[in-house]
Amino acid sequence: MRHTYDLIIIGAGPAGIEAGLAASEAGLDFLILERGRIAENMRRWGFVSMFSPWSMNLSSSGEKHLDPKNVDLKDIDRDSFPTGAEYIKHYLQPLAEHQDLDEHIIKRTNVLKIGRAGAFKNTLIGDSKRAKLPFVILAEQYSQEGTRTEVTYLSHAVIDASGVYGNHRWLGLGGIPCLGEREYRRYISYEVADIEPIVKKSELHLHLVIVGSGFSACTLLESAKALNESGHRLNISWITADTSSQPIPVVENDPLPYRARLAQMTNKLAESPPEWLNYKPGYCIVEIKNTESNESSATITLKRLDNLDDQEELVLIAQQIFALIGYTPDRRIYEELQVHECWATSGPMKLAASLLSQQGADCLSLQADGETLVNPEPNFFIIGAKSYGRNSNFLIDRLKEQVASVVSMLVSDNK
Ligand SMILES: Cc1cc2nc3c(=O)[nH]c(=O)nc-3n(C[C@H](O)[C@H](O)[C@H](O)COP(=O)(O)OP(=O)(O)OC[C@H]3O[C@@H](n4cnc5c(N)ncnc54)[C@H](O)[C@@H]3O)c2cc1C
Repeated sequence: MRHTYDLIIIGAGPAGIEAGLAASEAGLDFLILERGRIAENMRRWGFVSMFSPWSMNLSSSGEKHLDPKNVDLKDIDRDSFPTGAEYIKHYLQPLAEHQDLDEHIIKRTNVLKIGRAGAFKNTLIGDSKRAKLPFVILAEQYSQEGTRTEVTYLSHAVIDASGVYGNHRWLGLGGIPCLGEREYRRYISYEVADIEPIVKKSELHLHLVIVGSGFSACTLLESAKALNESGHRLNISWITADTSSQPIPVVENDPLPYRARLAQMTNKLAESPPEWLNYKPGYCIVEIKNTESNESSATITLKRLDNLDDQEELVLIAQQIFALIGYTPDRRIYEELQVHECWATSGPMKLAASLLSQQGADCLSLQADGETLVNPEPNFFIIGAKSYGRNSNFLIDRLKEQVASVVSMLVSDNK
C-alpha cells in the first residue's frame, strides 16, 4: 500500500510555511513540496524593502515556533520594514529549520500536475465519492547534482500555495506577446531587479525601459532617481497604459507609510519628469527586435493605445526592458481538478467574487472568510498570492485568516 498523507502543501513561501505550521499544530501528517529553496520567489526580490512592517508579517504561530533566544527577531523594531531577504533570514528560514517543519519539507521538487486518483475532471461531479479518493501528485525532483527524477505522492487534501511570481503576463496589446517578445526574451526582465550594480559596472550610458504602474515599477524608478542624483548616467523610458498624470494608485490616509511615500514620489516623477526620464503614458510596445548594428540593445516600437490605426510609431533603443506588468496563476498544475475560476482574475471564483464586491477598498481592509476558499473540488484549496489570481494586492497579513480557516475545515473533515 502506498502511503497517503493527510495533506500536501505546494510551495514553501510565506503561505506554505504558515500552512505547514498550522498543519503541524493540528497533528496532520503533511508534506511541503518546494521547487527551489525556502521562499524561492521572495529571494528573487530580496533586495526590495517590504512596505508591510514586521508586525504585519509575523504570525503568533510563527513567533511561538521561533527560538526565544533568536536575538535578531527579539531586537527588531516591529514598526520597521524588512527587506525580503531580511524577512527570510530572520523569520521564514528559521521556521523552515524548526523540527516541526524541517523533516516535512522536500526541496527541489517541482509539482507538475495534480489529479484525483480514480476520477477525472468530468466524472463524479458533485458526487460525495469524489472526496474519498486521494489526490495523486506528479512532481519532478532534482538532486544536488541536477539529476532529474519523477515521483508521485498521494494525499487526502492539497493546499496550493505556489504563488504567482515567475508566471509573468505578456507585454503586447490585449495581454498577448508582442511581435518579437518571445524571440528576443534576452532583452526582457519580468521581475524587478537591483539595477545599482548593473549601472555602476556598465561603461555604457544605459537606457532602460520600464513598463507598468505598480509598486515594482515604483521601486525601480526610485533606484533610477537615486542613481541619477548621485551622478550616474542612466536614462529611463517609462511606459504606462494609464494616461493620467498620477499613474500610481494612492490610498487615502494610507496606513502603510512606505507605500504612500513611494506612490507620491513616483507620481511626482510622472507629473514633472526630470531630464533622465521619458514618461510615455497611454503607450504600448508592439514590437521588439535586436538592433542590427548593436547586439547589446533592442529596438522597441511603441504605439499610442488610443489611436492604434495611426501609422505613427515611436522607436526606442534600449539595453533592457523591465516588464513589470504583473503575474498570473499557473493553472496547468490543477487543470485536471474541478476548480471554479474567475474569468477575469483566474483566482478561485468565490474568493474572486468577494474581492470584486469590495473593489476599490485598500488591500488591508479586504475581507474573505474561509467559505470563499472552498472549491467544487473537495479538499483542494488555493491560498496566498495565488488565491488572489491576477490581483497583485495580496498581503502576507491575510495568511493568518486563510490558513486558520482551511486547516480547521481539514481537521473537522478528518474527524
Ligand atoms: C517586489 C515585491 C514586493 C512585495 N512586497 C510585499 C510586502 O511588503 N508585503 C506583503 O505582504 N507582500 C508583498 N509582496 C507580495 C508577496 O510576494 C506575497 O505577499 C508573498 O510572497 C506571498 O506568499 P506566497 O507564499 O503566497 O507566494 P510566494 O512567495 O510566491 O511563494 C510560492 C512558493 O511556491 C514555490 N512554487 C511555485 N510553483 C511551484 C511548484 N509547481 N511546485 C513546487 N513549488 C512551487 C515557489 O518556489 C515559492 O517558494 C511583494 C511582492 C513583490 C513581487
